[in-house]
Amino acid sequence: MKQALVCGAGGFIGSHMVKRLRNEGCWVRGVDLKFPEFSETPADDFVTGDLRDPDLCRAVVDRRFDEVFQFAADMGGAGYIFTGEHDANVMQNSATINLNVVETCRRRNIKRIFYSSSACIYPAYNQQDADNPNCAEVSAYPAAPDSDYGWEKLFSERLYLAYNRNYGMECRIARFHNIFGPEGTWRGGREKAVSALCRKVAEAKPGGSIEIWGDGLQTRSFLYIDECIEGVLRLTRSPHSGPLNIGSEEMVTINRLAAMAMEIAGKKLDIHHIPGPLGVRGRNSDNRLIASTLGWKPSQPLRSGLEKTYAWIEAQVAKSKPKKTSVEKDLAATLLVNDVIQPCTISPKTGTATPSLPSMVSPISPPA
Ligand code: NAD
Repeated sequence: MKQALVCGAGGFIGSHMVKRLRNEGCWVRGVDLKFPEFSETPADDFVTGDLRDPDLCRAVVDRRFDEVFQFAADMGGAGYIFTGEHDANVMQNSATINLNVVETCRRRNIKRIFYSSSACIYPAYNQQDADNPNCAEVSAYPAAPDSDYGWEKLFSERLYLAYNRNYGMECRIARFHNIFGPEGTWRGGREKAVSALCRKVAEAKPGGSIEIWGDGLQTRSFLYIDECIEGVLRLTRSPHSGPLNIGSEEMVTINRLAAMAMEIAGKKLDIHHIPGPLGVRGRNSDNRLIASTLGWKPSQPLRSGLEKTYAWIEAQVAKSKPKKTSVEKDLAATLLVNDVIQPCTISPKTGTATPSLPSMVSPISPPA
């Protein structure tokens, strides 16, 4: 039976990868600082621990795994990586994880490690035009990422490639472009654009408004999690050793993304544009290389992934609303009927109040 190690298995992409590998019949060990937040892990073995610690790394890499998937990183959305406040931690934590993982695997004679890099490595100077960004793999140098998160990713790409060259390893590298889907972080400061927008739309009252950082004309593409996982497995098991984009080529403005979320929700909301961390002006996946090397590229429309993701986030928002206390319920169930305060039962479906005592007047609607 194939054995796989998933680093970062408590996170968004790692937890989906564990599920997919288990479905394929692999024996899977997951490792992360935490268990997955939104569902029980199906991993055969799950270790909670810190991959910055070389002893922990040696303990989890206790055998010659057939495949190692390295997703662990100190990361978040624009509100986390573009403010500059977390740069030292991001660089220190993620670089240490990668240095430990690759060296520990080398000592166990493990050949195949998948490493999750990012579109954030691409030079800022090629992404100033919202309509024509250049994110072809060969355009990575001369390097000029717009964040230290991107610089760490570039360093780690080079680290894995150096291990390939000097130690005969077979590391594989993908540059992800905005992966989204159910069970991604949707609040707390590390959430990314799709989850944040879906949450804002789900929380807004009909006719209300949502906030968007910047003018909303910045462009991005977004890839649904299932196609990301498919691409990672195809790349990991291929002979291609250079970095490959894994992303969608369906580029949209952030305003358009918000409009799509509103259409799905059936809500018409105003958009308030406010200052905030933005990143580059335009970014899109260039899928020419992945198509020619793997004979495959992502093809699902953004809308279909967004529908599934919105439904999941809407349910999370509903679940997280504070439940009414019994006192509040009692108060809500006490209504004015014919100028007399009387106890009522409120239908959860229609919101209609019915007096609890049978002799009382006919049902009334609650005040608007
Ligand atoms: P995530 O934050 O959900 O998952 C990362 C996981 O790493 C978290 O569960 C975290 O607890 C774990 N981790 C952090 N420090 C650790 C440590 N010291 N020891 C053990 N575990 C640790 O992020 P994700 O969206 O699943 O991203 C996975 C990988 O893909 C990351 O490397 C990320 O940089 C990369 N990536 C993601 C996207 C995206 O859109 N989601 C885009 C580009 C690149």
